[in-house]
Amino acid sequence: MSLLENAREMAGDLARLRQDLHTEPELGLHLPRTQDKVLAALDGLPLEITTGDALSSVTAVLRGGRPGPAVLLRGDMDALPVTERTGVPYSSRFPERMHACGHDLHTTMLAGAARLLADRRQDLAGDVIFMFQPGEEGWEGAKVMIDEGVLDAAGERPIAAYGLHVLSTVLPGGLFTSRGGPMLAAGDALTVTVRGKGGHGSTPHLSVDPIPAACQMVTALQTLVTREFDVFDPVVVTVGAFHAGTAGNIIPDQAVLELTVRTFSDTNRAKIQKRIIELLMDTGAAYGLTVDAAFGRGYPVTVNDPEESAFAGDVVGDLLGADRYLIAPRPITGSEDFSYVLEEVPGAFIALGACPPHLDPATAPFNHSAEAMFDDAVLPDGAAIYAGLAERRLAMAE
Ligand SMILES: [Zn+2]
Ligand SMILES: [Zn+2]
Repeated sequence: MSLLENAREMAGDLARLRQDLHTEPELGLHLPRTQDKVLAALDGLPLEITTGDALSSVTAVLRGGRPGPAVLLRGDMDALPVTERTGVPYSSRFPERMHACGHDLHTTMLAGAARLLADRRQDLAGDVIFMFQPGEEGWEGAKVMIDEGVLDAAGERPIAAYGLHVLSTVLPGGLFTSRGGPMLAAGDALTVTVRGKGGHGSTPHLSVDPIPAACQMVTALQTLVTREFDVFDPVVVTVGAFHAGTAGNIIPDQAVLELTVRTFSDTNRAKIQKRIIELLMDTGAAYGLTVDAAFGRGYPVTVNDPEESAFAGDVVGDLLGADRYLIAPRPITGSEDFSYVLEEVPGAFIALGACPPHLDPATAPFNHSAEAMFDDAVLPDGAAIYAGLAERRLAMAE
């Protein structure tokens, strides 16, 4: 039987596992129930399994029947603090916990791929590392797993790494898409505190008012983006929160702004961070205010290796047909901690349309929405693509 036929035979098991994961979502780096379910799904397979220390990760290594290098496949496992409103019968049992980004599908497809590849182990020309990762949604789980040695789990660094991500909208169900170069943005966050001196609203000359200066900062940030950055290497700066004051006749002591910044190159990422801080500090100084602002560590740009991305397109074309793959015309402005893996290992991040057939991908709720829905019908094909990527990449290296 072909890889695809084997995968499609597992459709019922895959849907059951996905719905079981969906019912009990967990957040952050510690997902004990999810980890148990993954271990149960892998039970009996000829895998070398280790679990994480600082997080509830599962790393499984499959040794091929023939010698060769290693390839890494990654699926993330964590959910989001959202209260589900899809109405599906397997909805989350918990308020403020939902698999709204479809990571339950990634976990399931990766477990399916482990089963598919274990069945073909004798012909496999090398090893496969299965990276079941907690904490993608802002917890740097991939970085923690790298620090705990996932890239060396098979004994040597993998020659390639692949990750799949489902989308509840934009793409029609079953369509795979990727591109060489930047695939997802770097996502950086900044909290800015503009400090002045509070006072009576009737006597502003006796205080140092942070509000007009903070307003100028908001508009100046947009001018900075349009005047100093190449329109073909985009930068997005959004001030998503602006908090100051309590009443109309009181000048507050401070204003607090919260920003998200998206970039698609390391050059622009470094430049915008430097220029934002300079602009904020200088604007504050011009009005006699002090400004506290320092960027933390956000996720880097997710950069696909052009050859690995083209290879992924070939695998989808061979296994499912050329009409199931689209070269992405542009990157996505979301961000991903798989970027840390791709900083170390050439590979590709691939999006998979999972919009259910009764919804229109042009208008269906996006990932992270309380109403985001993902179609179980994509699970066998996704598992087959994970497995096909590993099998063929190893064969290619022979
Ligand atoms: Zn997400
Ligand atoms: Zn996600």
